[in-house]
Amino acid sequence: MTSARRQTVFASLDQPGVWPPTPRALRPQRLDLALDSLPGVAATTQRKLGKLGLASVRDVLEHRPRRYETAAEEVAIAELREGEELVVSGRVLNVEKRPMRGRRRTRIVARVADDTATVSVTWFNQPWLADRLKPGTEIRLRGKLGRFGFEPRSYDIGDDARATADFAPVYPAAEEIAAATVRRVVDAALPLAVHVPDPLPAALREREGLALKRDALAAVHRPRDLREAETGRQRLAFEELLVLQVGIARRAAERERTLAPGLGEPGELIHRYRQALPFALTPYQEQAIREIDGDLAGTIPMQRLLQGDVGSGKTVVALYALLRAVENGRQGALMAPTETLAEQHFLTIADLCLELGVSCALLTSSSGKREREAALGVDVVVGTHALIQEGFELRDLAVAVVDEQHRFGVEQRSALAAGRAPHVLHMTATPIPRTLALTVYGDLEVSEIAKPPASRKPVITSWITEDRASEAYTRLTRLLREGRQAYVVCPLIEASETSLARAAEEEAERLRRAELREFRVGCLHGRLKAAERRDLMSRFKACDLDVLVATTVIEVGVDVANATVMIVQEADRFGLAQLHQLRGRVGRGAEQSYCLLVSRAKEELTESAQSRLQALCETSDGFELAEVDLELRGGGALLGTRQSGLSDLRFAHLLRDRDLLERARAEAAGIEPGPLQDAAAALFAEVEPEALA
Ligand code: ADP
Ligand code: MG
Repeated sequence: MTSARRQTVFASLDQPGVWPPTPRALRPQRLDLALDSLPGVAATTQRKLGKLGLASVRDVLEHRPRRYETAAEEVAIAELREGEELVVSGRVLNVEKRPMRGRRRTRIVARVADDTATVSVTWFNQPWLADRLKPGTEIRLRGKLGRFGFEPRSYDIGDDARATADFAPVYPAAEEIAAATVRRVVDAALPLAVHVPDPLPAALREREGLALKRDALAAVHRPRDLREAETGRQRLAFEELLVLQVGIARRAAERERTLAPGLGEPGELIHRYRQALPFALTPYQEQAIREIDGDLAGTIPMQRLLQGDVGSGKTVVALYALLRAVENGRQGALMAPTETLAEQHFLTIADLCLELGVSCALLTSSSGKREREAALGVDVVVGTHALIQEGFELRDLAVAVVDEQHRFGVEQRSALAAGRAPHVLHMTATPIPRTLALTVYGDLEVSEIAKPPASRKPVITSWITEDRASEAYTRLTRLLREGRQAYVVCPLIEASETSLARAAEEEAERLRRAELREFRVGCLHGRLKAAERRDLMSRFKACDLDVLVATTVIEVGVDVANATVMIVQEADRFGLAQLHQLRGRVGRGAEQSYCLLVSRAKEELTESAQSRLQALCETSDGFELAEVDLELRGGGALLGTRQSGLSDLRFAHLLRDRDLLERARAEAAGIEPGPLQDAAAALFAEVEPEALA
């Protein structure tokens, strides 16, 4: 039975004349056909697939299965063993839809019987299944016996046994489109894979032992075993990484053709800066500065990534680089992703600049015309995207610093340098695992501030569920009474800035009446005017407020050492990197700090949300967290969708493919003009200045 089913599953591979491909003229234009040109694909299906980003035959062929069903034993229901992945077949006796605690979740429970026994089968969050499971329906299930009865990972209804077959691909499903439909469309598209040209030169393929692209695609969608699937994936991953590496090499070569001002050795201004700082720089900061000085002395524009966890002291290093421009009679600019952060930087930097006799201005989208004109002439400009808007041209920019660089698209980061060739320092508090760094920033030098200034204690983080939220407030009020200050971060709802602001105001009002009755509570959100926000921040800094209720606008840059507690409400809604950033707002002084993550009830959380919260409690090491995040989400998500190149990686796995990446790097240098070079040029095309307007 099973083997007969296997035959149908893999028929497309074995049918002579369809697969393997007979030699014939390639017609790659067929790959651009819309999906409704495939047999059995209707316009509605096409529309739904479009929402998954699948528009053409090529898209479907390159749609990567998320995983494969592993080989599993088929047993009678009476023989089911707990905790082991098994396959059973039977018919549905009845089906029931049960709501679960919490708003959005449902549970479908069906009784399924064969000749030996009956078992109850539970699906979570697939309410539409209720209509499909009529009594008497034949069903084949693959999954495990667990707490809620049989919990299937996949199932087939009727005699179509493709989803539960051994090594069947499992595609990322979406609510609107059944996994089975995606599989059917892939089936229909596969015969056209014969038209996929292979961009890899034959000699390279031979050297690296790589299959033809079309064979790799077939192997990925219809493997006979897992090894075959993995070999196919690696072939496709290799090509992706190669294109990326060729692109990076092109970018580096371009940069080396432009000239930046050489800034010589540090001089008198830098000497005074060091003396003005209220602390000595850490060895890591000193090391980063030495590396920056090395770059600035040359005329190849610096492209350096300064990596250091939240609170590690990057800003001091950034200002150092900016002052190196100033002491050479030129300008420095610091670009931050949000107004709050730009203002924070400005507040920090302005005082020091004043002391050093260096002129300094803040430029945001709320700056007026006069302010803009004035900013053009100062030594150091701090600002937001406004710095790269048309009509704002610094006369003599020599050093540009981009803070939280992953928040900007590649095109925005390079716009700061457009038409000029300043030295650029990119800063990030999202530590980037090495594979990823090589992948995306292959042409960036990296400096790392591996440890924060010694006086810091790691933040103690705990995770509690809503029902025990009062404990969090008890702890909070105790610390407030001791004279500490606190942040309460409001839930991240998918809504406009305005409704976020309203939600924060309401929460602040509620807390003023309830848990935080005896304290002074301010509310910080993105809808405040710049002046209001500045006023609020300076009152909080001056200890005129005890608590700031805030949206994620406090995520970056807010720096108040006496604020030692943070409560994050509905923390499960936030991403890992974001929670780590938020947590970085506390633990900035010598006092012990606390971060209390309040989540919804455990059974309402996805596995990945639980892993995130768990990881945050276990470590405060941003680097480790970045690896966890990468594992949970993949690279594109980690660095933001706008990060060029990464969103194009479908088959490459950024943690596992280190070896492939090194091989691709080595091969990249020898790639002649041709399809790979074209693909690489297209990958970074958005960097071209004409695309900026
Ligand atoms: P980052 O930008 O990396 O998050 P900051 O540059 O804002 O970190 O520094 C965090 C805090 O640490 C600031 O209050 C800063 O004044 C302080 N700081 C920076 N360097 C040192 C140092 N070497 N010794 C003591 N404190 C420092
Ligand atoms: Mg910072």
